[in-house]
Amino acid sequence: MDQLPVNDVSFMKCSIVIWFLLSSLAAWSQDLMSPEVCGTIDTPDPDFDHAVFQSFRQSYFSHSRQTETIQIPILPRIVRHTDGSGGLDPDDLEQILADVNRGYSGSNFEFYYCDEPSYVNLDIFFDFDRSLYADSLVTYNIPGPINVYFINKVLNDETFICGYASFPWYEEEYVVVKNSCALNGSTTAHEIGHYLGLYHTHSTASGDELVNGTNCLFTGDLICDTPADPRLGSHNVSEDCVYTGDETDLNNQRYTPDPTNIMSYSRKSCRTYFSPGQFARMAYYYEKDRSALDCNPVLGTSTPFSQEEKIKLFPNPAGDHIFLQIAGKIVQPSLKIEISNLSGQVIRIDPQISGQDLWSVSIANLPAGVYFINISQGTGVISKMFVKQ
Ligand SMILES: [Zn+2]
Repeated sequence: MDQLPVNDVSFMKCSIVIWFLLSSLAAWSQDLMSPEVCGTIDTPDPDFDHAVFQSFRQSYFSHSRQTETIQIPILPRIVRHTDGSGGLDPDDLEQILADVNRGYSGSNFEFYYCDEPSYVNLDIFFDFDRSLYADSLVTYNIPGPINVYFINKVLNDETFICGYASFPWYEEEYVVVKNSCALNGSTTAHEIGHYLGLYHTHSTASGDELVNGTNCLFTGDLICDTPADPRLGSHNVSEDCVYTGDETDLNNQRYTPDPTNIMSYSRKSCRTYFSPGQFARMAYYYEKDRSALDCNPVLGTSTPFSQEEKIKLFPNPAGDHIFLQIAGKIVQPSLKIEISNLSGQVIRIDPQISGQDLWSVSIANLPAGVYFINISQGTGVISKMFVKQ
């Protein structure tokens, strides 16, 4: 290609700088005009029984149900580009967990990570369009803990959102948090609140809550110690977390909402508080629907044998091959290897293996999804999960 005259080069450079500035301005003004909110849509629980819940709530407040600490396992899932680049910095996970536990202080919930983060490397999920790929993302769930997917950007019906989560009455079970929102101090705690059955404080899924509290059991967020909320935002909450709006309810009474409530749409930095009623509701749903949360789900009759720590499976997620590195005194001829799917159904027995300590297992013909590789010797079985991309 002929070299461009100096003036043309300067013009090109200038145009690129202007284009860059304009794009940055557009992105910045989009953030300013529509600060990202949560994409969880409040829907009624079809099986909710008010009488059963009220009875639970009473016993919860009489302390008979909140004596023991409930440890809740989270598996951090970091979504990256297909080539493994980008994604949340794993060093941020410690801060995110600390923020969640600070939000839940005062309750008997305590959250912990099961394991090192598990990666999902797929370009289509990097800037994630929920309407296109939510069903696909959920196939990467690893059963047992709360799968919290940290994603670069999350698009929901043409609007960018901070995250969303599954209510206990949903079939799928996962939480999505946008990376930058994960570091705002309150979004991850908020989404986990939904996962444990909480509505937004401004919810109208069950009707409009009145300021005077007369219908608080059956409307709004169905919780009476969270004041009626007209839907907060930076337009009606000051930087020092004071409600500045003048909205009124159906009785023409002015709202006095709580801008510190984690389940509100208040400024993210203001959201630091769950009410006792919210803790009671989460404890109810934990007992009813989430008590099986576990880091290590029991897989059939599998019993680990002593060499477990000597078996490594990588890369995970895997492409066409997955490698098994086996150290120790396992005798190859007595070893049986199976691959099973999430339902426990064995789909391949003794897949082709090669090598001595490092075995390559071809998984090229497996559809994308989560699988187990079961390695057995005698009566001992080790099951390890892996993701095929
Ligand atoms: Zn929400």
